[in-house]
Parts: sequence; C-alpha cells; structure tokens
Amino acid sequence: MARKSVPKEKKSAKARRVPRSAPAGAAAFAGRTRSPTTAARKPGTGPRPWSKAEVVEAFGRFRDADPAPKGELLSVNPYTLLVAVVLSAQATDAGVNKATRALFAVADTPEKMLRLGEQRLADFIKSIGLFRTKAKNVIALSAKLVAEHGGKVPRERSALEALPGVGRKTANVVLNAAFGEPTIAVDTHVFRVSNRTGLAPGDTPLAVETKLQVIVPDEFKPHAHHWLILHGRYTCKAIKPDCPRCLINDLCRWPHKTAP
Ligand code: SF4
Repeated sequence: MARKSVPKEKKSAKARRVPRSAPAGAAAFAGRTRSPTTAARKPGTGPRPWSKAEVVEAFGRFRDADPAPKGELLSVNPYTLLVAVVLSAQATDAGVNKATRALFAVADTPEKMLRLGEQRLADFIKSIGLFRTKAKNVIALSAKLVAEHGGKVPRERSALEALPGVGRKTANVVLNAAFGEPTIAVDTHVFRVSNRTGLAPGDTPLAVETKLQVIVPDEFKPHAHHWLILHGRYTCKAIKPDCPRCLINDLCRWPHKTAP
C-alpha cells in the first residue's frame, strides 16, 4: 500500500536521546513535568493530536505488516483463553504458557478444572506470581461458569466482569479474541504506546480505551489490540524503544524518539 508522506518532526540532538528509562503511561513523555494528557488539553503546549488520516495510515501499516495478528497466550477454547488471561496478570505470556501447556492438557473445561481442585491447580501454576490467589479465582470462576452459564464462557461484558478475578481488561481480551468483538483491551503495552505516541493519551487504561474506541476506525478495531500490544512488546518497548525500525516513526509524537 502506498504510504502517505507525513512531515517528520524536527528534533534537537538532546531530544533524539532515548532516556535510560522510559516509564509507561503519563510519564512516558520523559522530560515533561506535565502528563501528556494534561499537556494535550492545552492548545500549543502538548503533542499535536493525530489526524484521522494519520490514524488510518498507522493502522494500515500495521495491517500490511501483520494482517492477522494473534495473541501469544496459549489457549484451546474460550475457557482456556479466559483462564490464561486471568493467570497473566503481572506475569509474562511466556511464563503463563510454560505452566498452562501441561494444565490445559488435563483441564480445558470448567468441569475438569473443578475436578482437578485448587491445590493441584496451584501446583501446575506455582511458577506464576500470585499463584495462590489466581488458583482460588480460577476455581471460583469455573464454579460460577458451571452454576450460571452451563459451563460456557458468556459473551456479555457484564457477565464476564462478574466472574472472580475478571476485570475490564480481561473481559475485553476474551470478547475480542474469543468472540471477535471490536473491543480494545488496554494493558501496560497498549497504555504506553497510546500515551507515548500521542495516539490516545490518557491517565488511566479506561481513558485510553475510550479514546482508542473513538479514533480507531471500525475496520481496524478487530485487530487493534493485538497490533498495539505487539508493537509495544517488540518495538516500542518501555526501555530503549526500537525507534529506528519502527513502522510508525514518522507519525509518532514522542519527543525522544530516535530517527529511522
Ligand atoms: S518512534 Fe516508534 S518505537 Fe519510537 S517511541 Fe515512537 S512509536 Fe515507539
């Protein structure tokens, strides 16, 4: 697809330096004393908001590079996806996959998980942080699925968020990845990328999600979460983002980005 030429931002030598630490979220605009959200609200002081054409351009490039992005958590059905996402809180996908590969071989439905029991489940996932709390939640949510949903994962946000250990982000991931709903889950990577680039600045994940829902065209919504999360995980990393090989370098508003 032909790329629209977008003028590059001028950068001083100082601005080209990437800070040793590039914290997520509001602080991602390192060197600022204000949050990007606050700055963006004051005309002339914050990053220039992305135009609709620039948003389309960015997601068009993500799509060209990876037309069908997939999440990296192992799952074999909506239930195992739900469990994997619950287990992934404050843990890496690779760490979760290491534990769930064996777990899902013996318990890939809520009924089987209940038969496995909390203690044996905990043994499977003990390499994952907060495993005791997570084991309790997985057993409790499995019991609720059996009691109230016939053992199936519900497709409604309210029903998902009523499950133990399931918050808005987990519900969004399940609705999107298991049911194809156009939700955009905001995790630490999506939050950082949205703030750092100026695409959808916000002080909370919900504020960022709300802005993404407004600015991302419908045609890109089914995959927007995965494109942003993969971009944050492998290119726009928290520390030392790989700006020179970034697909959206010319569109990004981060004052500390480095040139391609
Ligand atoms: S240029 Fe790309 S990698 Fe660098 S900060 Fe911007 S979005 Fe992240």
